[in-house]
Amino acid sequence: MRYVSTRGGMADRSFSEILLAGLADDGGLSICDHYPFISDHELDCWRGLKYVDLAYEIISRFATDIPAEDLRKIINSTYTADKFGSTEITPVTKLKHNLYILELSNGPTLAFKDIAMQFLGNLFEYILTKNNQQLNILGATSGDTGPSAEYAMLGKSHVRVFMLSPYQRMSPFQEAQMYSLDEDNIYNVAVEGSFDRAQDMVKGVSHDAAFKARYKIGTVNSINWARVMAQVVYYFKAYLAVTDDNRQKISFTVPSGNFGNIYAGHIARQMGLPIDKLVLATNENNVLDEFFRTGIYRVRDEDDVHITSSPSMDISKASNFERFIFDLVGRDPKIVSELWKQVETSGYFDISKTKFYQDIAAYGFKSGSSTHNDRIQTIREIKSEYGLVIDTHTADGLKVAKAFIEDGVPMVCLETALPAKFESTVVEALGHKPDRPASHDGIEDMPKKYEVMAPSVDAIKSYIEKHVGA
Ligand SMILES: *Cc1c(COP(=O)(O)O)cnc(C)c1O
Repeated sequence: MRYVSTRGGMADRSFSEILLAGLADDGGLSICDHYPFISDHELDCWRGLKYVDLAYEIISRFATDIPAEDLRKIINSTYTADKFGSTEITPVTKLKHNLYILELSNGPTLAFKDIAMQFLGNLFEYILTKNNQQLNILGATSGDTGPSAEYAMLGKSHVRVFMLSPYQRMSPFQEAQMYSLDEDNIYNVAVEGSFDRAQDMVKGVSHDAAFKARYKIGTVNSINWARVMAQVVYYFKAYLAVTDDNRQKISFTVPSGNFGNIYAGHIARQMGLPIDKLVLATNENNVLDEFFRTGIYRVRDEDDVHITSSPSMDISKASNFERFIFDLVGRDPKIVSELWKQVETSGYFDISKTKFYQDIAAYGFKSGSSTHNDRIQTIREIKSEYGLVIDTHTADGLKVAKAFIEDGVPMVCLETALPAKFESTVVEALGHKPDRPASHDGIEDMPKKYEVMAPSVDAIKSYIEKHVGA
């Protein structure tokens, strides 16, 4: 398998070559040069496979330059009952006839990002050890990606994590998840100001190519190909759990922000998985719902982003979306480059009058959005009808899914976090706190380790210099 850029300006590369890189040099995203097709017969053979074996079958088709034995080891050591609660890794719960929840949040930080990030941690360590390299991951988090990345890189000898977070603006639970980690390779930096200030510092560093090269700065943000790829596995797992015959089709609803999770569903569908609809759910930040309804992709100013009770979906633009558009326009990098040039100059593109917009139907995409009140109502409904307490993001999904449930087509809603992560909204809806997994009991009371910093690019640079050494 070779990888190309969505904007056409990168000589094709191997999986390992794109693994540690962020954006392609031409500003595009790396993407596989074709989607591997899974035949009916192969899909039959996969029925009954354990998660790790299914993961190997799928990932080995993308990571073709990693020796089979090594890849198996990495996968087997990632997806364990110890880390994810059971060897099922992503169990499916039936709510009623035709409605299911795909549990994705049983990992160490109680959100679906762990599924990809834990794999990434082990994969990075493998490649870096093999090449005798060091990597210093620099990132900014508003609360969810940070813990997931830190738990994935914990104690890895070739990786350091410098994670910037907004000082005193996260929930006590989120703060505790990161700041209570006492590991030599994890550096928590609390930036005075908003998440955007922290993000600006990361951008500032990434514009300094010499600094980046000298201090081996890398990222694990949501455009990382390996993260997306690892998420393809659970679409297959869910399909095989819900059906007993490949002639059956199922639909998925995905709470979406940066379009990473649902893009993995698109990949599964392109690989031949019998998916009927891929329903994209947004909160009040409905950039993507607007696109699927109108054909207009209009990014928001950072100041126009609503701060909501499903904060992990509060986005101004969707960083993985370009990969889907690449497919939609027939994989023509000239058209993709032109569209993103329009985004840069005018803040939007409009394909409503083109044949591409008509083609969207063939990819199965549908969309809808949800509000704070919808989340509260949905959390109440699901509790009273099924006795299940869900988190706010999963509630966005279930609310939007309702409009697209059809007879004879099972609808699988992706659970993207546990309610324990978003306690205050659950209390607002139900009047009591959600259960908390024993692993997280009393974490707010643990000692905290972090450095407070002014929002300055120079400050973070000298902090990195001091801790990495030249
Ligand atoms: C990151 C995140 C999302 C959004 O996923 P994307 O891949 O960015 O679309 C949804 N819910 C939760 C809880 C998340 O952490």
